[in-house]
Amino acid sequence: MRYVSTRGEAPPRDFEGVLLAGLAEDGGLFVPETWPVLTAAEWRAMRGLPYPELATRILALFTGGKPDVATLRPLLEEAYAGFGHPSVAPLVQIDTRVFALELFHGPTLAFKDMAMQALGRLFDATLARRGERVTIVGATSGDTGSAAIEACRDRASVDIVILHPEGRTSEVQRRQMTTVLSPNVANLAVAGSFDDCQDLVKAMFADAPFRTEMRLAAVNSINWARVALQIPYYVAAALALGAPEREVAFSVPTGNFGNVLAAWAARRMGLPIAQLIVASNRNDILVRFLAANDMTVRAVEPSLSPSMDIQVSSNFERLLFEMLGRDAAATAETMRRFRAEGRMPVPDAAWRSASELFRGFALDDAHTLAEIARLHAKAGYLADPHTAIGTAAALAVPPADPSIPVVVAATAHPAKFPDAVERAVGIRPPLPPRLADLYAREERFTRLAAALDPVEAFVRAHARRNAA
Ligand SMILES: *Cc1c(COP(=O)(O)O)cnc(C)c1O
Repeated sequence: MRYVSTRGEAPPRDFEGVLLAGLAEDGGLFVPETWPVLTAAEWRAMRGLPYPELATRILALFTGGKPDVATLRPLLEEAYAGFGHPSVAPLVQIDTRVFALELFHGPTLAFKDMAMQALGRLFDATLARRGERVTIVGATSGDTGSAAIEACRDRASVDIVILHPEGRTSEVQRRQMTTVLSPNVANLAVAGSFDDCQDLVKAMFADAPFRTEMRLAAVNSINWARVALQIPYYVAAALALGAPEREVAFSVPTGNFGNVLAAWAARRMGLPIAQLIVASNRNDILVRFLAANDMTVRAVEPSLSPSMDIQVSSNFERLLFEMLGRDAAATAETMRRFRAEGRMPVPDAAWRSASELFRGFALDDAHTLAEIARLHAKAGYLADPHTAIGTAAALAVPPADPSIPVVVAATAHPAKFPDAVERAVGIRPPLPPRLADLYAREERFTRLAAALDPVEAFVRAHARRNAA
């Protein structure tokens, strides 16, 4: 199994190469050279498997034997062992034809754990076998940092430093990062904004001697392995609802387009998915694109669903590549113009092929609160703001055929966004038992000014084990 860049100017790599590289050298994203396609019998044979086993079999389709099934299996079993539900990703009915696929039973209560818990272990095992170590640095406005820390804590070949803007994350988000006291984890509270944190991380990667000395690495959402690890839960849900004999649809609260791209990949692999709903908040660039081929960047507006406050969806490039018939030169040119002009020139035929499969739907904050209240009143279901946008979309733009069920990706636990939920229904959702003492745990973090020198000095001291 080989991977090629969407921009065509980077050498192909194998799965481990793609795992460790993240972004391709030409700025493109790695995609499989050919997609594995399963027969109906092969899908059927996966029905009823425990989640870690299902995930092992799907991931093995993308690793080409390196790592092999025997290596992947214990790794994925360990990755999902700490989840708060025996089925890992339970399916809950919330309306006649609508189901919530709960992806938030991992350690940080958001769907990113589904991929990151396995990714951290894959990373560590691959590095250990090669006798290599890395220092992961990242900036977070809240969710991604905690998922990365939980994924990398206590891993032998990885040190991790996460920068967050001091005082600008929620308390749950901060504590999920700062109460992890493992020696290979460090948190920096930067006196500045999320953009300052992101600029500092970019500056560290741009400092070539520092980057080499520290062996800097990232675990961001463009890593192909993360997308691959998000495919199994779509397979599990579809099989549970009758696939491959019955079609299903998915509604996915979307930011960087990684989660919904994984659903698209499952369809490309032969799973009968009739429709994909892209659910957004008022940052609705993808919805405008699907409705009218208008992919124009506007300013990011803060919302009650902050993990979707994004204008440029980095994983969209993978779909663009496919829509353009896998023409890497055309993809590179389209991305270049998008960056330069703030508007993506997608040919009409390509846009039409996307708009036939994908439906877009956007919801503002007031209607998001109303949907949380409606779900609670009608179904006794407590949803977080991201999930509520997905359920509203499922009801607003379902497939025309009423026999097709719509599965909503429930991307965060309601207790992760307690203020919004309390505003909507007057109930403050409690943390699950395994996190109930979060507010009593000891915190550890270091405050620093938003300046490169002290941040690099801190990273160097923390990651001294990596220094050449
Ligand atoms: C990250 C995140 C999303 C968006 O996922 P993408 O893969 O970036 O589209 C949606 N909801 C929650 C709760 C998230 O943490």
